[in-house]
Amino acid sequence: MELTRRNLLAACAGGLALAAGLGLADARRRPAAAAQPRAAHQVPGIYRLSIGDDIEVTALLDGYIDLGTNLFRGAPEEEVRRLQEAAFVPVGPAVRSGVNAFAVNAGGRLALIDAGGRNLLGPTLGRLPGNLKAAGIDPAAVDLVVATHLHPDHVGGLVTGDGAAVFPNAELVVHEADWNFWTNADLMAKANEQGKMFFQAAQAAITPYAKRTRLIGDDEEVMPGLRSIGLPGHTPGHTGFVVHSGPDTLLIWGDIVHSALLQVPHPDWSIAFDIGPDLAVATRRKAFAMAASDRLLVAGMHLPFPGIGRILDEGGVYQYQPEPWRFEP
Ligand SMILES: [Zn+2]
Repeated sequence: MELTRRNLLAACAGGLALAAGLGLADARRRPAAAAQPRAAHQVPGIYRLSIGDDIEVTALLDGYIDLGTNLFRGAPEEEVRRLQEAAFVPVGPAVRSGVNAFAVNAGGRLALIDAGGRNLLGPTLGRLPGNLKAAGIDPAAVDLVVATHLHPDHVGGLVTGDGAAVFPNAELVVHEADWNFWTNADLMAKANEQGKMFFQAAQAAITPYAKRTRLIGDDEEVMPGLRSIGLPGHTPGHTGFVVHSGPDTLLIWGDIVHSALLQVPHPDWSIAFDIGPDLAVATRRKAFAMAASDRLLVAGMHLPFPGIGRILDEGGVYQYQPEPWRFEP
């Protein structure tokens, strides 16, 4: 048979007719193999990679959020549509973005960078606890929880609905500028409804860790193998983390990108949640330029799971290239 669209459709229809005509009576006589129920859910969202000989990073999926395309400042509808069509994703008023966290096991210490959103932004998040379990990571064994910033999709998972610490033995590490911003009562009083919810979520997340919190700056060793790098704009203390060992470097860049589909080709499209939109754009441009020129491996909280890949500069237009699946960590 020649490969044409018409022949393909005809083959499918023929298969269905055959099943309808001959299959049913046979199927009833066959054992349960034919009645395998559909799983209707994905396998656990975990992925591992080694950095150097001695550091293991585990990407952990918390779920996804659908972002309205109108949240992206200055994004023309027709260009959004063109990008959606080109990527074979649904054309419409929203783009789907994953929410990831990353565990870093280095030098005998285990750090979890961000903790997902629990149920704060709806039921499509909150898979982190299950995926930690699937990865063999006991929350009690986490030594450090490190926040890229204090937004609800990053720190909602630090606490239970009752306000207890999910990570009972962990020190909380957060940039001092984010801490100062989200604990500022005057700024909270001036915020709109959604802004107030963000302040409340941040404060609820940090409260049970108050006696074991470390505030950091732009360029500090968080633990051996893990350094902070200031990436301000999205929030005042938005921070990336560099994992480095031997010949390998991984930049975990937090929310430099909220939608790879839209913001990689258009770094100037800031998102409505940016507290400093112009600074966020400048920081994204700097991060892209560095990632492209250094051929840096990057990991992002909203890059498509497992959220690890590279930024390419294709004649002045940036492209995201996911890392090929690693058969070995
Ligand atoms: Zn985010």
